[in-house]
Amino acid sequence: MPRPDHHRAVILAVGTELTTGQTRDSNGGDIGAELSTLGVQVVRIMQLPDDLEAVTDAFRRAMDDAELVVSTGGLGPTPDDLTREAIAAAIGATLHVDPEIERWLVELFTRRGVRMPNANRKQAWLIDGAEALPNANGTAPGWWIEREGRVIVALPGPPREALPMWRSDVLPRLRARGITAEIAMRTLRLTGIGESHVAEALGEAMLRAANPIVATYARPDAVDVRITARPVAAQDGRPALTAGELLYATQRQVEEALGRHVFAYDDETWPDVLGSRLGSRRLATFERGTSGALAALLAHAPWFAFGEIDGRRVEGPVAGASAPESTGSSGSAIDDDDERRVLDAAAHVRDAGSAPVGLAVEARPRGADTHVVVGVDIDGERTAETSTAFQAGEQGRRRAALTACALLWRALGSNDAAGRG
Ligand code: ATP
Ligand code: MG
Repeated sequence: MPRPDHHRAVILAVGTELTTGQTRDSNGGDIGAELSTLGVQVVRIMQLPDDLEAVTDAFRRAMDDAELVVSTGGLGPTPDDLTREAIAAAIGATLHVDPEIERWLVELFTRRGVRMPNANRKQAWLIDGAEALPNANGTAPGWWIEREGRVIVALPGPPREALPMWRSDVLPRLRARGITAEIAMRTLRLTGIGESHVAEALGEAMLRAANPIVATYARPDAVDVRITARPVAAQDGRPALTAGELLYATQRQVEEALGRHVFAYDDETWPDVLGSRLGSRRLATFERGTSGALAALLAHAPWFAFGEIDGRRVEGPVAGASAPESTGSSGSAIDDDDERRVLDAAAHVRDAGSAPVGLAVEARPRGADTHVVVGVDIDGERTAETSTAFQAGEQGRRRAALTACALLWRALGSNDAAGRG
């Protein structure tokens, strides 16, 4: 059988408390995330009640669909913990008490000066071909089973038991067996364009391809395009490609289509990219009608100006310290007046904060949406913009702050370009 260029996994989260919503499944997502970055395709994450038939059936179907099956939960000592029985039934194996695990369990209880309850004996169960995975934080050992080219891993439910076992015992074994693969991943973060326009620009062929996988995500602060590439074997006269080479070629295609919207890569955020464009320059901000959304977004950046005004120490960002005189009449002011007023505010806060760069934003509800006016002043060079942010209320105010970041980012970009030219 030719080795597949990637492996598939099914994750089963077992426990009635999951299906009744008393506990949220975090194991599935955590394990799924790690498998994905290791080039294993997670075909599904399933939550199941403590029901022998349902869990047995889920293991059977998982083994049909994937080379790797990982379960969490149901390894405890009580009768409702039946993951072991389900695995045994699914692969037609018989359970027996493993003397070594039993000794370890008895010892664990003896150390605490109590007799081991009979119920715990099932935690010493094994089936032929299964290997016990030590649990440093609990009494339930995990299971590692290899059968007919497939791997089944059973871990306990509590994340503080399951995740350490996953990292210290399971991942090294998966690597050693070549189940994980070389992959390359990059996220391009876009501003000033909606997810559906991004999808349109990339085209269906790219978004449906199996390798590289190109996916779009609407995040609160950006539309992300994530590229995940695996190596490609040489075929039909075409040379082999490493994951990195394929990623790079795809990234260039995406940048060709959407490059002017890309403001950040991977884990970078607005404070990161604004910080690198500001360089050693500090920023002072003014905002009105945003409930401090801009300051909240930027306040922890080291370059943000917490200043003194007129010799007084200002607690908090310079932003809210003193409002400039308002020249516009409220409500019916035309955009030009709005922009002039916001630009004055940007200049004022820049002076007040003794910063070379001033940024001002005003937001106010307009129907169901938010009317946003932004002004940037970089050493007296002024840029303003009026726009409508989707939704009113908190969402609209947060989007107004992001609009301000985007204008500042563009203004700093052209300011730098002009400075160099
Ligand atoms: P134990 O020996 O503790 O009983 P177990 O393997 O039987 O371990 P469960 O009884 O299924 O595990 O779950 C124990 C606890 O672990 C749950 O009460 C819950 O708090 C947590 N837990 C279980 N499964 C998950 C999950 N998928 N995501 C997050 N937490 C979980
Ligand atoms: Mg339990």
